Amino acid sequence: MKKRVVIIGGGAGGAIAANRLPLEEFDVTVIDSQPYHYYWPWLLYIAFKGSRRPMKAEIRSLLRPGVNFIQARAEAVDLANRRVQLEGGKAVEYDYLIAATGSGPNYSVIGGLDKAVEKYGDYHSTEANAWRVWDTINKLKGGTFAVIVGGDPYRCPPSPLEGVFLAEEFFRSRGLRDRVRVLFASPYPRPYPAEPMNEVVEPLLKERGIEYVTFFTLDHIDDEKKVAVSMEGEELKYDALVVIPPHAGADIKYSPPDVLTQDRFVQADKYTNNIKGFDDAFVIGDASAVPVAKTGVTAHLQATVVVKRILGEDARNTGRTNCPFDLGYGLGTFVISDFENPVVKLPPSRFSHLAKMAFAAAYWDMIKYPELWDPIIDAYFEATRPAKLRRFYG
Ligand SMILES: Cc1cc2nc3c(=O)[nH]c(=O)nc-3n(C[C@H](O)[C@H](O)[C@H](O)COP(=O)(O)OP(=O)(O)OC[C@H]3O[C@@H](n4cnc5c(N)ncnc54)[C@H](O)[C@@H]3O)c2cc1C
Repeated sequence: MKKRVVIIGGGAGGAIAANRLPLEEFDVTVIDSQPYHYYWPWLLYIAFKGSRRPMKAEIRSLLRPGVNFIQARAEAVDLANRRVQLEGGKAVEYDYLIAATGSGPNYSVIGGLDKAVEKYGDYHSTEANAWRVWDTINKLKGGTFAVIVGGDPYRCPPSPLEGVFLAEEFFRSRGLRDRVRVLFASPYPRPYPAEPMNEVVEPLLKERGIEYVTFFTLDHIDDEKKVAVSMEGEELKYDALVVIPPHAGADIKYSPPDVLTQDRFVQADKYTNNIKGFDDAFVIGDASAVPVAKTGVTAHLQATVVVKRILGEDARNTGRTNCPFDLGYGLGTFVISDFENPVVKLPPSRFSHLAKMAFAAAYWDMIKYPELWDPIIDAYFEATRPAKLRRFYG
């Protein structure tokens, strides 16, 4: 009899895992609460470029023929009894579980944030909110435009500063730069938390006249007074603001409950992605509490390792990150590191920006046919091993 693999979540991690498992050996079922797979990085280009390029595709259309798809919300996971409870009373049993349920904004932890998002939008939640940001920057003809990191964790470490750089480029291109002050605030000691990448970023902020405030831990937003207030009582005045919301894991009950962190991320081994205490259950991508960046690349690499482990190989994660970082004006860099090596100081280049765009163009194909792309991806990761790059760039 074929072993049953149940994958909760048909996003980046879940779809890759489903499309890699050999169907001669496994009965593979993907469960998702809604019909679409979203390419979340494109929210940035809706928000700051008004891009109309589609950023979603039907999950069913991305899965190989033979993979089962159930559209339903998973409500509970019973790890000891290998059972996923779905909304509406149905349950699904498994031999192996892969939780790939992503993460999303948790507005409730910052007073006034939900109202601010309703008014100004954000680019870490929905297409509608990203379009609100586009409206916001188009309406702003003067004053302060603030981008504030609301707290950890959030998807894609470079994304807050990408928004800042693209906003600055937008206001300059509209001839408004002398009237619009661009302000960035974050709780970290420096604009980019990892020092080597900060050495790339901070000079660009200065060169472009972007102001920044560090150690700013956002407590609440008072939109009547147009101030963002930190936990220490420091006030930042704004005319329009976009907050990067702290994220939380999916609203699923786990048994035993102690596999979850307080903000509902699932605890797992960082090398194998096994859910704490369970050999037959894994968590990949943004849903996991392992200390790696919440990026699609991470989800992709972890999905590959988990599939190999289900097939009996002793595959292990290296903790490799590879976040493309849009620096505005057609420039980019990549945030590259692994468990053994800190972030590389990769200088800004046109090539890195083009590589980010090439990745976006190839995204749907990579999700559908991961094995077709393996030789290219493997060669790229080998060529850009952090230990090797550090010999060139530090
Ligand atoms: C602005 C922005 C820029 C980004 N830029 C980059 C980038 O340049 N490069 C990069 O690699 N990454 C980037 N990312 C991050 C990347 O998009 C995510 O890390 C990636 O999508 C994570 O994949 P995942 O499979 O873990 O989760 P997701 O792709 O979010 O998929 C999770 C799925 O689980 C489903 N689900 C959730 N709860 C349930 C439930 N209870 N029952 C059933 N289904 C459920 C959801 O509907 C969803 O389909 C960016 C993200 C943002 C927001």
